[in-house]
Amino acid sequence: MNAEIIAIGSELLTPERTDTNSLWLTAQLNELGIEVTQKLIVGDDRDRLATAIAASLGRVPLLILTGGLGPTEDDVTRDAVAQALQRRLLFSQTICDEIDARFARAGRKMAEINKRQAFVVEGADKLSNPNGTAPGLWLDVPGGMLMLLPGPPREMMPMFSDLCLPLLRARVPQLAIRKRFFRVAGMGESDLDALIAPIYKPYTNPVTTILAAEGDVQIHLRARCESEEAAETLVEELGGKILATLGARVYSLNGDPLETVVGHILRDRKETLAVAESCTGGMLGARITDVPGSSAWFLGGFQVYAAEMKARLLGLDQKTLDEHGAVSEAVAKAMADSTRDRTGATYALSITGEAGPESQTPGIEPGAVWIGLATPSGVDAKMFRFFSGRNRVRKMAVQTALNLLRFRLS
Ligand code: ATP
Ligand code: MG
Repeated sequence: MNAEIIAIGSELLTPERTDTNSLWLTAQLNELGIEVTQKLIVGDDRDRLATAIAASLGRVPLLILTGGLGPTEDDVTRDAVAQALQRRLLFSQTICDEIDARFARAGRKMAEINKRQAFVVEGADKLSNPNGTAPGLWLDVPGGMLMLLPGPPREMMPMFSDLCLPLLRARVPQLAIRKRFFRVAGMGESDLDALIAPIYKPYTNPVTTILAAEGDVQIHLRARCESEEAAETLVEELGGKILATLGARVYSLNGDPLETVVGHILRDRKETLAVAESCTGGMLGARITDVPGSSAWFLGGFQVYAAEMKARLLGLDQKTLDEHGAVSEAVAKAMADSTRDRTGATYALSITGEAGPESQTPGIEPGAVWIGLATPSGVDAKMFRFFSGRNRVRKMAVQTALNLLRFRLS
């Protein structure tokens, strides 16, 4: 089944507010095997909203509206639904009394304006709201269902979970869902897609979603079938083909981030890691220490931003620094080597680069980063070119360093 969501509120059309309701609702609907095929944000305008509602109901059998159920003039959702469905708005004394009682419990008197919230679209069932004044509404319409939920997430979420989910479960044919989640490092989203699109494109079930962040691409597969076995067979089949193509580039099958994956290997082998960071200024150490229990395998490191600190804390030769420059193979290797020596760690990673936006070093382009790795069998360093700004360059450097170590460990 397909669904649409309309988030209502002019504030959601400003740069200050984000519609988070529809993300949460989408996750809930997906769990039921319902796909969200379109979503929309509409300001507090009755005619525009009524047009959008009528159009949605012409496309899909399930429409969820959030927001605009408040008591003020700009809350127009009830009116817009009535207009779109050409139904009347009826005053409900029961709802009015409930709102009244809610105010009384708080030691206040209900304002006249709150009576607006006691109007119900003809034929709608009330969805009670223990967390706010505006009740939600559930409507069965020819060929479909329509839900009106309050805008504040702390009211909307429990209303959906407690009241709407059971109703939906009873009406939507239940399909079994099976998922796979792979995380990939060491290749960009477009390269990855070029490689696996020919594999997943022929499948409409499972549905494949690819999400990319700095140096990390996530592949989500979701199969929906009559039986769990059939769904499992489908994700296993497509997942198997994707895994066979991507090989060791897949670093996680359960959602664990790279630092956790690396940490588990080190912990199991009783080996340790230390780091030396220049342009990332501690970001690598911060990611590693995000992992609970990382003290079992992470010793610590050096934050050596200025050349002077590379010399003083790590004992780097001033001659090496002068001759090669701080962003160089020689310095990356010396940083890793010295860090391993000084900490006694099994492995040491080093990062030295030009994060940008402007180059501080003659002859070095912004985005050029050397990553060094010292191991019991020697030290090596590799140069990378990252793009798209200081923040991304630094995040890419950290991700790439962790991935280099992972490759070395496996
Ligand atoms: P109220 O009785 O609080 O007015 P309402 O149903 O009219 O309820 P809105 O006025 O539309 O809800 O929204 C109230 C607040 O809820 C907004 O200021 C915003 O902070 C939050 N909110 C509304 N819609 C969303 C949304 N789609 N995603 C996240 N937050 C939202
Ligand atoms: Mg409101």
